[in-house]
Amino acid sequence: MIRADLLIVGISELATPQGTTPRAGADLGRLSVVEDAAVACCDDKIVWVGARRDVDQAVRTDDAQTLDAGGGTVLPGFVDAHTHLPFAGWREQEFDERLRGATYSEIAARGGGILSTVERTREASREELTRSVRERLARLARLGTTTVEAKSGYGLEPEAELKQLQALRDAAADGPLDLVPTFLGAHTVPREYRQDRTAYVRLLIDTMLPQVAEAGLAEYADAFVDAHAFSLDEARQVLEAARSHGLGVRLHADQLDDDGAAALAAELGAASADHLEFSSDEGIEALARAGTCGVLLPAATFFLMSDTPPPGRRLIDAGVPVVVATDFNPGSCPCDSMTAALWFACLTARLTVDEAITAATLNAACALGRGKVTGTIEPGKRADLVVHDVPNRYHLVYRFGTPAIKHVIAAGKLID
Ligand SMILES: [Zn+2]
Repeated sequence: MIRADLLIVGISELATPQGTTPRAGADLGRLSVVEDAAVACCDDKIVWVGARRDVDQAVRTDDAQTLDAGGGTVLPGFVDAHTHLPFAGWREQEFDERLRGATYSEIAARGGGILSTVERTREASREELTRSVRERLARLARLGTTTVEAKSGYGLEPEAELKQLQALRDAAADGPLDLVPTFLGAHTVPREYRQDRTAYVRLLIDTMLPQVAEAGLAEYADAFVDAHAFSLDEARQVLEAARSHGLGVRLHADQLDDDGAAALAAELGAASADHLEFSSDEGIEALARAGTCGVLLPAATFFLMSDTPPPGRRLIDAGVPVVVATDFNPGSCPCDSMTAALWFACLTARLTVDEAITAATLNAACALGRGKVTGTIEPGKRADLVVHDVPNRYHLVYRFGTPAIKHVIAAGKLID
């Protein structure tokens, strides 16, 4: 008989994708749904899932703590596959300026935008950054995120980039969230290199990437391809160098224009291409052929008041495995709630609720190389689960506006 140390009952509905590989097309919205369900966990793993009436014959629960879900809905813990977590300082004044009609370029020309966050992040000590990351991780856990990707990219010089990645490592060391660090030195060209961008690309390739790889501080490298950031060719050089150091690669692609970055992500065998609002049909087809995940960031598109919606249906119709993430950062998406990301994924990118759930759990886990570890509620997977205070999964989006998280379990531990 299976032994359990945590038993969750009182579940009106348990809904989960299944498997360890990303889902695309019609499979994206295929969930396993059990009504009046139970889940048993032992240590940090799920050991049994099924109908409540069957649990007593299958699982020895004498020593187990019992958690009553109170008629709530249980889904896998959210996997947020795209955040810019380690930053100093918010930018609410810029937001107010945008509401008064200022454009992002005008704000950047006055010294605002990414470069203002770079200035404040450079000034912050490693301890200050670590403390704020720890607080943000605790908040994410309460919001139901149990695995999170986090990018550097507000240092843009060797020491400050390393400081951001060290803060991530230190803050996540005690768990319970699983943090996947990404080096985003190629976020934008820092002010001091604006007259000699080639020298900054050399600094990334010759100094920063080797240091990051040597210190084991990142699993992935990312680059922002954009008229105001890096060209296709510069991004290719940086990411090929990253691969030669054993890092996986991902790409900020086609957010504001069709730069051909989706096709570059496919060509490089990237784990994901993110944003994709302006990707061409050819770019999207290349992603589908390469099996590269397409990460939608619908809360950011919404917050930027863009007229171009995230290309949810285009990606799904082309057979790209779709991921939904927040893009949490102080400029273009101060929203860190994956439930909110689901609202926008459904209401602006036109995913169904079931598709959005797979995109925010299993597919997101696969995009971070965690498909065998988390993203579904199945025996053998890590016990990452969320009890939502709703009678079924549709209510998560149907009653948008208020996340209703009742309990979060990350790696078998109940988060207070
Ligand atoms: Zn981003």
